[in-house]
Amino acid sequence: MLEKILHIADHMKLLDIHTKSSNSKVAILTYHRVTNKQNDWSLNPLPVKSFENHLKFITKTYNIISLDNLVNLIDSRKKIPNKTVVLTFDDGYKDNYINAFPLLKKYEIPATIFLTSKLIGSGELAWNDKVGYIIYNTSINQIKMDGLGEYRLDSNFEKYKTFSDIKRKLIKFDEVKKHSFIDELANVCNVEISPHIGEELMLSWNEVKEMNENGIDFGAHTMNHPILPNLTLEEVRYEIFESKKMIEENLQKQVKFFSYPYGDFNQDTINIIKELGFKCAVTLDQRLINPEKYDLCTLSRIDGFEDLSFLKLFLLDYGKYFYNLVKLKNRIITNNASFFKIIMNRK
Ligand SMILES: [Zn+2]
Repeated sequence: MLEKILHIADHMKLLDIHTKSSNSKVAILTYHRVTNKQNDWSLNPLPVKSFENHLKFITKTYNIISLDNLVNLIDSRKKIPNKTVVLTFDDGYKDNYINAFPLLKKYEIPATIFLTSKLIGSGELAWNDKVGYIIYNTSINQIKMDGLGEYRLDSNFEKYKTFSDIKRKLIKFDEVKKHSFIDELANVCNVEISPHIGEELMLSWNEVKEMNENGIDFGAHTMNHPILPNLTLEEVRYEIFESKKMIEENLQKQVKFFSYPYGDFNQDTINIIKELGFKCAVTLDQRLINPEKYDLCTLSRIDGFEDLSFLKLFLLDYGKYFYNLVKLKNRIITNNASFFKIIMNRK
């Protein structure tokens, strides 16, 4: 599929692979889950082998530094080494400890994990994981609900499409409406969510502490993973401040970095980030960072795509061309499960 896209791009003279240079730009990579459980109900997992292949490729080709190091270099206006990459993880999934942490140690790679603080060691699930749990654990074959429409659930691909589409619709709901909708969905699907289910999925504070002592840094990612621009200012302040405080109390060190859930923010969110003393905040906008035109409150990141070819394409700064092509070739994409997943993951 990638070959097809590159062929079209070449034909349209969009790419100039031989002369392209993105050496001076910095890439912050975003990962979520690293696990071999491919039919899991949570986010798209990146298989452990693929993650290791990423690390092998990056260590060979790029200069990997910590987010702290990058921010210090930017702050002190020092030159950032060519081909610099920073690794980050969002949410705080347990498989970061079980699968990613041993590999990060093996390759001596620093990383920052952004924690949805209230979910750590609590047994609770984020709202998006609740939707996934319901969709993947129901025995019904289709859903029909007022205000939602009709969805098929008769294959894993249909379940994935349904899960992604419901999530996208719920993102526009306010918090109260969203939670009552999820309760109703659980009812319709006849699925009970155990209050301990999050213990299997999310990190415990002991795991966080162990990683903190072994080269992994931690940032805040709110308490409950809401869409911040949907909240009142008071709620936004609570979500960000309490998340930071909870990590600081557990690790006894200052939390300097923040990641916007779903990459969503507005000027009010940025003001609160500055007010609370964060040194930087990261987005999910699939771009490299140009060290001459950066904003520490909205540092771009790109996804750690499962397919190494995609990752290479984005590291070469061809992401924007890729998405233009995707728009043109929409028909191919909706018929292809792996492409569909990439597009649905885009924020
Ligand atoms: Zn998140």
